[in-house]
Amino acid sequence: MLNVKDLNVFYGNIHALKGVSFEVKEGEIVCLIGANGAGKTSTLQSISALIPKKSGVLRFLDKDITKAKAHEITKMGIAQVPEGRRVFTDLSVLDNLKLGAFAVKNPRESDEDILKVIYERFPILEERKNQRAGTLSGGEQQMLAMGRAMMTRPKLILLDEPSMGLSPLFVEKIFDVIKNFKEIGVTVLLVEQNANLALKISDRAYVLETGKIVKSGSAKKLLSDPIVKAAYLGA
Ligand code: ATP
Repeated sequence: MLNVKDLNVFYGNIHALKGVSFEVKEGEIVCLIGANGAGKTSTLQSISALIPKKSGVLRFLDKDITKAKAHEITKMGIAQVPEGRRVFTDLSVLDNLKLGAFAVKNPRESDEDILKVIYERFPILEERKNQRAGTLSGGEQQMLAMGRAMMTRPKLILLDEPSMGLSPLFVEKIFDVIKNFKEIGVTVLLVEQNANLALKISDRAYVLETGKIVKSGSAKKLLSDPIVKAAYLGA
């Protein structure tokens, strides 16, 4: 579904991604794990065309998207939920959700249909739909950011550190929703510091170290890999 080949990203003189290659197959949950600064966010942002690529080839559903613009990528079916949620705090919950749909008007399905699906998953968003998004807790804002991404009816969702700063109860809820994405046919590329939890719900994973993929395999295999355990699983 998504194929990333030999991706190089620079910030000025900093070579942040050094020939990163990986793939995500339809229906999978794939996670990228790695320490702070390894290049996880840069990988997601270059897929969404939010930062420029120096070189590399990106393909999505057999189309070359290397040169596509951010709004074209969204229209093709890739949605990103950014690190730190970035909801519009002064707008209501409902207006935040509607902004998601605004990015990709789809005449086949009305906003009401997709809102119903989102409210089923996140009842709190319906209860608080007229409330300012800035008054929601961190976990509720994460739900809103995920709901907003769902409004674009994505085929592939990119999640950047969804569990960051959340209480254990919310972390559990967010991970349930990620598993549910897979069940409803949305493919997931997940970036997580919480490697333990991420590997438990993923099919496959890649380990990034200073801009390079140093390991990959089934999530089950990586969970029992001694090097991964020592470096990322607190064992
Ligand atoms: P984190 O979990 O801390 O966000 P990460 O694995 O997502 O880490 P990136 O944020 O992709 O890593 O950063 C990769 C490298 O690029 C790091 O060395 C970082 O310092 C650098 N970098 C990221 N953004 C910028 C920027 N806007 N300007 C300069 N350097 C940057």
